[in-house]
Amino acid sequence: MMTAITMTPDDRLTPARRAKLAYIYVRQSSLTQVKHHQESTELQYRLVDRAIALGWPRERVQVIDEDLGKSGSGHAERQGFQKLIAEIGLGNAGLVISLDASRLARNNRDWHQLLELCSLFGVIIADGERLYDPSAYHDRLLLGLSGIMSEAELHQIRMRLHQGELQKAARGELRLPLPGGLIYDRSGQIVLNPDEEVQARLRLVFAKFQELQSARAVMLYLRRNALGLPVRPLVGPSPHELVWREASACQVRYILQNPAYAGAYVYGRRRVQAGRRSIDGRITASVKVPLGEWKVCLPSAHPGYIGWEEFMANQKRLSDNANGSKAGRRGVARKGMALLQGIAVCGRCGRRMSVRYSGPNNEYPVYCCRADKDQTAVPLCQEVRAGAVDDLIAEALLEALAPDQIGIAIAAVDQMAQETRQLEGQWSLRRERARYEAERAHRQYDAVEPENRLVARSLERVWEERLRAVDAVEQDYRQWRQQDPVVLKADDIKILEDLASNLPALWHSPTTRPEERKRILRFIVQEVLLDQKRTRGEVWIKIVWQTGAVSEHRLWRRVHSYNDDYANIEGLRRRITDLNAQGLMDKQIAAILNEEGVISARRRPFTYENVWVLRQRWNLPAAKLNPTGPNPPRWPDGSYSVQGAAAAIGVTPQVIFHYLASGLLTGRQLTKGQPWQIALTTDKIDQLQHRLLRTRRSKRKAS
Ligand SMILES: [Zn+2]
Repeated sequence: MMTAITMTPDDRLTPARRAKLAYIYVRQSSLTQVKHHQESTELQYRLVDRAIALGWPRERVQVIDEDLGKSGSGHAERQGFQKLIAEIGLGNAGLVISLDASRLARNNRDWHQLLELCSLFGVIIADGERLYDPSAYHDRLLLGLSGIMSEAELHQIRMRLHQGELQKAARGELRLPLPGGLIYDRSGQIVLNPDEEVQARLRLVFAKFQELQSARAVMLYLRRNALGLPVRPLVGPSPHELVWREASACQVRYILQNPAYAGAYVYGRRRVQAGRRSIDGRITASVKVPLGEWKVCLPSAHPGYIGWEEFMANQKRLSDNANGSKAGRRGVARKGMALLQGIAVCGRCGRRMSVRYSGPNNEYPVYCCRADKDQTAVPLCQEVRAGAVDDLIAEALLEALAPDQIGIAIAAVDQMAQETRQLEGQWSLRRERARYEAERAHRQYDAVEPENRLVARSLERVWEERLRAVDAVEQDYRQWRQQDPVVLKADDIKILEDLASNLPALWHSPTTRPEERKRILRFIVQEVLLDQKRTRGEVWIKIVWQTGAVSEHRLWRRVHSYNDDYANIEGLRRRITDLNAQGLMDKQIAAILNEEGVISARRRPFTYENVWVLRQRWNLPAAKLNPTGPNPPRWPDGSYSVQGAAAAIGVTPQVIFHYLASGLLTGRQLTKGQPWQIALTTDKIDQLQHRLLRTRRSKRKAS
């Protein structure tokens, strides 16, 4: 009697699953494997038969073999695997088959992502022998184990390779790439590059560094004299050609830091840093290994340009330079205060702007576009003070996230999703039609008698054309899919609504750390373009929101320094409001502030412009140009103002000024330009009025 297992078809192969597609994932880790294990590849293609045996019609079995010949670690460059993940995520897959289930993903992260997705979308995984249901506990356990095993195996291989390399390097026998100044001679020995110009230029670099003590200064010197540097870019297959490049500080440092130029054989100067990849995930970044931790360092292994002592002295000088400039550049005090760190983009040249901190205690963050400053001698592109820009961005953010705005946004996203669904329908019709046309052309071609070559040929052409059309439609479709709009789930909407109502409080809360504000901002804002040279006195700001929408803003520039970072902004405000209320002009206010020792944000004396800007900001009306303007008749201490004195005596303010100048009246000013405080008694008033009558009488007589 046969066992029940083979008798009944596997109950996991439900009609619902069979209605979807079966994906065969074919891959081999490297090209050599592809060459040498042709067999295994064929075996993998034969998995199509297995899918058919499991109940999938041939036309619903898809083979993904884009990854044939791609190496195993990390899915970044394996498009086939990405595609597989995408298909599962779109709910298209019912079954995924690979020769060895664990081969589906070579590292654990991929593997778990795959299992997670398969379990979520109810996809069955199969290899040559059995089926696994990732949502079932036992199957999952089994699959997880084989994934781990596979990763361990990969790790072992890598370790063995590395060990071999290291042993060879320890004997100084591993052929390492050489910098431009050195070459391998015919016998494989490292010697100086026989090109005399190369030798001379490198010697010049070392000599100049001795003299100038700074890589940047050496770069400037070389540039001034239009002297290039020999560089051997390690691109493409060897031998790598030597090229001359315009000097950059980076190149100079590279030369100074290369121990090969000191005749040393060194292995392990850089180490691959896990988890650091470029945006497209392709390049794994490496980091410098400190000098003392180099795995292999054999001094005087071959001829060099400088001695080992000079090399070590150069390293110390370079590191001191770097530390010195760092200390001057970024302080600890307000580190991380700049809201736009990492998302500020130079509106002039499009480079990402870095943050530096200015002020005696590094308290003012500044966004700066260094453009080519460090590398070349080009002057700095631009710098924008962070304070007021950050305030404006925060304001814009909170405004955008106000509850009513959120409501509108949610509705808009919903509508977009709806449109997408409609379009998706259109696309599926279009794709289906293209496929149908191709299949029909195929049938027609199949049906024709082989003897009828002419007809067959033309039908074959038609068939090929249709196949190309299918490809084109699929490609268009994929492209369209990539611009997928956001689809909001109920949870997302809830989070958004909560966020909207709580955000302002959260944002301003003293317990909210700058990093948290930054994180919130990054959710909403993609980048911020800054340009303070576009319009004089203004910073032009363009916010690129995560949705792709953009908004432009302008900021009056000089206000920058007087943001909340300014130590006693409230005190300053009160004083200026006060002085302004006394009818003083900005110039006078500035003079008083300087006299009182108030320090401007830029640590320079106040100018009338500073005061003007602050007044604008605080909506303080301008004082009248007339210095005899709106002063009260008498000051709190009983003294008279010019206007008050004029009214009391019965003359014009001009006469009072004349009296003051001629000494008939005494008064004092806190400082030049401040209002007069005039001492005036009733006797004095009488005396002056009598004097006035006398002069009038004598004038009348004379006329
Ligand atoms: Zn720039």
